[in-house]
Parts: sequence; C-alpha cells; structure tokens
Amino acid sequence: MPKYRLQNEMIRWVTKEKKSGVYRSCDIPEQILRIYYKKLGGLKDIEFILDCSDSYPFRYPKIVYKINEGLSKNILELIRIKTCGGREELLEISEYKCLCCMTILCEANWAPSYNIDHIMEELEHFVELRMRIRNRLYLNLLLKNYEGFPEDVYGYIKSYL
Ligand SMILES: [Zn+2]
Repeated sequence: MPKYRLQNEMIRWVTKEKKSGVYRSCDIPEQILRIYYKKLGGLKDIEFILDCSDSYPFRYPKIVYKINEGLSKNILELIRIKTCGGREELLEISEYKCLCCMTILCEANWAPSYNIDHIMEELEHFVELRMRIRNRLYLNLLLKNYEGFPEDVYGYIKSYL
C-alpha cells in the first residue's frame, strides 16, 4: 500500500498548478523523489532527494540535498541553526524555538497524514527563515563594528529583515 501513496501524490502533483522554477521527478519502483529548485531563499540550484522506500508515509522520507550538483548533505544541515545568536533571531521572527526539534521530519512530530507537499512547504519556509536570520546577524555585526551606528536606523533596517 505505501507504494501507491507516493504514486497518488505524484499524480495529484501533475495536475496541480506549478510553482515556477520547481521541478519534480519520481522513480516509483525505487520510491525516490527528486525536487529541484532553480532558486530557494538565497540558494541557487538546489536539489532535494527524498528516499521514501522506508515505509513512507508511516515513516518520514530520508532526505539529502545538493547545491549546484555538489556533495549530498543530510537535510539536518539545512535545518539546524548553529550560528551564534541565530536561535535568538529565530525566536524573534517565528513561532519556532528550534527548527530541528519542531520539524515534521522527526520521529516525534511526523504523522502519516503529512505528505510531500507538507514537507516541501516546511523546508521552503525554513530556508526563508535561515536567510532572514543570516541577514539579521550581518546587521548585528555591522552595529557591533561601527561605533555610533544610529540605533533607530538599526531598528528601522531590522524591521525589514
Ligand atoms: Zn533542536
């Protein structure tokens, strides 16, 4: 039965309105799905490879990603926020305390009612959040290094990031 689930999702996807710059291909017998984004957040040429062969949808797919045909990296690399000060910024701009604890790609949070679209929506959102966090951290750094940087200008810029 699990095999049909991915197949049905792909059939639904074919008839759905497409986001531009996003391409999917699926190897149904192997249960491997590839989703390519021409641009996502600040990233270019990013491909997600979702391995659904391990009892999907009862278990979440194993996911790796590649940027510009580079090395495959575990999706957690993209989800974890390791930068100093990153967590504080995350709290300021989202309802998340920690992306890696709150992602649906985790035993504790996954439910078989989630599908590939839910996963990708979450990943897209996380990548956007990461980009915003990076920009906000750059701004903090700027403030630290430029004495007399006007506080109100800082607050003004930050409200846009
Ligand atoms: Zn965490």
